Amino acid sequence: MKTAANYDFNGKRALIRVDFNVPLNSEFQITDPTRINAAMPTINKIIADGGSVVLMSHLGRPKEGPEDKFSMKHLIPYLKEVTGKEVKFGEDCIGEEAFELSANLQPGEILLLNNLRFYKEETKGNEEFAQKLAKHGDVYVNDAFGTAHRAHASTTIVAQYFAEGEKMFGLLLGKEIEAMDKVLKESKRPFTAILGGAKVSGKIQIIENLLEKADNIIIGGGMMFSFVKALGGKIGNSLVEDDYLELARMTMKKAADKNINIYIPVDAIEADAFDNNANRKEVAADAIDDNWMGLDIGAKSMADIEEILMESETILWNGPMGVFEMENFAAGTRFVAETVAKATANGAFSLIGGGDSVAAINKYELKDKVSYVSTGGGAMLEYIEGKELPGIKAIRG
Ligand code: AMP
Repeated sequence: MKTAANYDFNGKRALIRVDFNVPLNSEFQITDPTRINAAMPTINKIIADGGSVVLMSHLGRPKEGPEDKFSMKHLIPYLKEVTGKEVKFGEDCIGEEAFELSANLQPGEILLLNNLRFYKEETKGNEEFAQKLAKHGDVYVNDAFGTAHRAHASTTIVAQYFAEGEKMFGLLLGKEIEAMDKVLKESKRPFTAILGGAKVSGKIQIIENLLEKADNIIIGGGMMFSFVKALGGKIGNSLVEDDYLELARMTMKKAADKNINIYIPVDAIEADAFDNNANRKEVAADAIDDNWMGLDIGAKSMADIEEILMESETILWNGPMGVFEMENFAAGTRFVAETVAKATANGAFSLIGGGDSVAAINKYELKDKVSYVSTGGGAMLEYIEGKELPGIKAIRG
């Protein structure tokens, strides 16, 4: 793979698309710098090689032209702190002044360009705009996985203005792709995918794609009840998408034809209200009482899932098993998080992706006990749906 790891940046100006879309408070201080920290290995590598760095990103959703609250200048104090360097600032990312700053950048220096989305040309993937951005660097590095599924000027189009050997993935994006390919393209068998969350409709394409790759597909969360209902079970007031029952049935048939095990939980924790303090009962998943709803998986299902996971060599987890935001319905999600960690200690490769499963892994402090936690929500989902991401294609071809 073409990554910053195997390129010598000595004397080069690297134009890096980073994801610095960080949350700011009312005083414009960064409340969570995770995304900036994640780009530091790439920045440090380039500077250590003797190169210079031009950083470009979007921040928030500016509507029409520049807005002070979305200015990248708010990031400068933190960037100075983590790099230990002065940070030059290009107020207008394609303005005269910015080009002068990038043209005169010396090895070890950093230039931050202002919010790319102050130009609507960015999200439109405008070629002229991308060509102008390209003038800021001798080489192009894409380290922004969160936007790799968008054919924007800075994430995709800009790459066409750099020669083959002069465009590459940053260290963060390189690792993301490697982890996803380990699961989707080079998976060791058995490969088990655990899919949870609210809706079948949001996950159906992933299931379709995994029918070509996985050995086991474990379904949990609210979406399991569409499968239970499709099989003729009683689901009370549980979450259901009636429009998807036929598709759920077809998916189960396809899986059976291909000898793929689709595991639907056999028991559930039902509640008489969508409330942490509601009355709770453990029941068969296909015998939810009238006016009650299933909000978590039960003990027998957890034991079954453990058995499948402990025999797996590759694990992909996306989506919670229940309403884990409520303590009384978090047990299934916590159990899956802990069991994925246990299977990883046992030698399996595990990839966790999607906002809620990542939140669960962090909440239970298991981040270091799984193989990889993906940072790109939408981009990761599209990749596991089997789509080709334009930002990745632009570099990998
Ligand atoms: P998604 O964005 O589709 O991955 O769904 C995540 C959401 O699904 C979380 O907020 C969970 O609380 C919710 N969820 C998980 N299980 C259930 C369930 N059994 N009933 C209702 N919501 C659920």
